[in-house]
Amino acid sequence: MRRPIVIGNWKMNGDSVSIRDLLGGLTSQWSGVHQAEVAVCAPYPYLGLCADQLENTNIGLGAQDLSVQSSGAYTGEVAGQMLTDVGCGYVLVGHSERREYHAESSELVANKFQAALDAGLIPVLCVGETLEEREAEKTYDVVGKQLLAVVEHCGLAGVAKGIVAYEPVWAIGTGKTATPEMAQDVHSYIREVLGPEGDQVRILYGGSVKPETAEGLFSQKDIDGALVGGASLQAGDFVAICRAAE
Ligand code: PEP
Repeated sequence: MRRPIVIGNWKMNGDSVSIRDLLGGLTSQWSGVHQAEVAVCAPYPYLGLCADQLENTNIGLGAQDLSVQSSGAYTGEVAGQMLTDVGCGYVLVGHSERREYHAESSELVANKFQAALDAGLIPVLCVGETLEEREAEKTYDVVGKQLLAVVEHCGLAGVAKGIVAYEPVWAIGTGKTATPEMAQDVHSYIREVLGPEGDQVRILYGGSVKPETAEGLFSQKDIDGALVGGASLQAGDFVAICRAAE
């Protein structure tokens, strides 16, 4: 049995006032979520504030990136151990916005995945194809390569300690969601690539998930939850998605 999980990715949004409000909204509307594991990935400066406000709740905390280094003269970088120290349990690695805007290669992403494991964090590995790649029928090829880069570096057993998020790039922040069947096909492929460990790894779908689309996606046998961007900034929508994962 894989426990369903929903993770919010706030990206570079919010300030101390709006984040306090959002967390207040989440905790006050929190009912009907018993089985699902839930976490929010906040911008670095607000992690401490979130850790304090989420104490004694069932909502976990994550960051959106980490350094491959563990400490030292790496100006501007944040080590996994620092994230654990301020209360994070999760960290996103290889989000398409980092692969695209920060030129993160699959090799770097694999190193970040290992750095997260070494720091005691649960890495959430994001993989997914662009529209151009889907139209050229390269989805499996692209997703397979992104995944295998991490398998080669961390081993199947290492990957199995994390979570995989299938996020078609064309569906992120665009309002276009993959149909449940499209997503299921890729999730099932990811499980196959993960071989003997595949059955135990949780695979999330991400890409414009909304309360209205969550249930259809979660009804698919290989979709274990969601990575939610835009809708995680609205407390009511995020709680509704978490309830749909029950
Ligand atoms: C994301 O950034 O991981 C994401 C899925 O965003 P959105 O839900 O806004 O498409």
